[in-house]
Amino acid sequence: MDRPRPGSHPYMGRQEPREEEHRQFDELEASSLFCPKCKTAVPVRKRLLLVLPEGERYEYLCAYCSTSVGRKVKEVKQKIHLIHTR
Ligand SMILES: [Zn+2]
Repeated sequence: MDRPRPGSHPYMGRQEPREEEHRQFDELEASSLFCPKCKTAVPVRKRLLLVLPEGERYEYLCAYCSTSVGRKVKEVKQKIHLIHTR
């Protein structure tokens, strides 16, 4: 007699990591910072300062008075393949 085996569970599908959501949250986190001149939380403008080998350095400027209110280095996750031939 042919009958399906009990206990055989079909796969529910692969769960892929959602890297985009994490990035968006990261942007939101820095969208409002405290400005010492305006003395309140202000919307900021993101400005790319430098591109370093280990990442990109950004500066956050107050949208009203252009005071620098924060800096951040965004790490660039590069897949570096080290190839040893010997
Ligand atoms: Zn300001």
